[in-house]
Amino acid sequence: MRLLLIGPPGAGKGTQATIISKKYGIPQIATGDMLREEVKNKTELGMKAKAYMDKGELVPDSLVISMLEKRLKEKDASKGFILDGFPRTVAQADALADKFKEMHIDKFLVIELKVDEENIIKRLSARRVCSSCGKIYNLLTEPPKKDNVCDDCNAPLYQRDDDKESTIRERFKVYNSKTAPLIDYYTKKGMLKTVSADGSIEEINKAIIAVIDKAFNG
Ligand code: AMP
Repeated sequence: MRLLLIGPPGAGKGTQATIISKKYGIPQIATGDMLREEVKNKTELGMKAKAYMDKGELVPDSLVISMLEKRLKEKDASKGFILDGFPRTVAQADALADKFKEMHIDKFLVIELKVDEENIIKRLSARRVCSSCGKIYNLLTEPPKKDNVCDDCNAPLYQRDDDKESTIRERFKVYNSKTAPLIDYYTKKGMLKTVSADGSIEEINKAIIAVIDKAFNG
């Protein structure tokens, strides 16, 4: 089973991809996670990618495409996978189509997670992280007991650079201009299904599974 998850920042792609990956026993391939790992390990790719990621911009196609192509060749991806956050541009989608041809893959499903932009911006810009233990809070839905201090270790909370409202707005701008054209691209190929991602994690997951089961079994 080959699945592609497309959606704006904060739509819950990662959360849903993790659940789907476990349910169907296929690896989750998240280019954002792979890039963050490269940054953490200070590799050549990581050093190049960091500046783009911090600004909320896309990492250049050539870098992401070669990283993904390498990952698809790994053994665990031979029976299926869920791509989370790739492709994000038409050039990436074209490269993926070529790769699929080479791998003799003709059946895959693209799932678009659709959300209300202003709700997401409010929710994402309220996220805070403990500077010591990394615990995640949300000032709107899961605030700390004491203002700006971690409940568990009393260390100050901070806001990730890519959670700042200006950065989130930039990421949405990038999504709307570079990634949203893929909705049309895959609709024309008859590969796209859209799921509303404004509900709870369970509700969204149920809707995704219904779409997958219909596409692959029904
Ligand atoms: P994500 O965790 O998927 O939101 O990705 C975090 C950041 O990694 C994005 O804002 C981009 O800078 C970069 N990134 C992840 N996937 C891609 C991709 N397919 N193409 C270009 N940049 C990407």
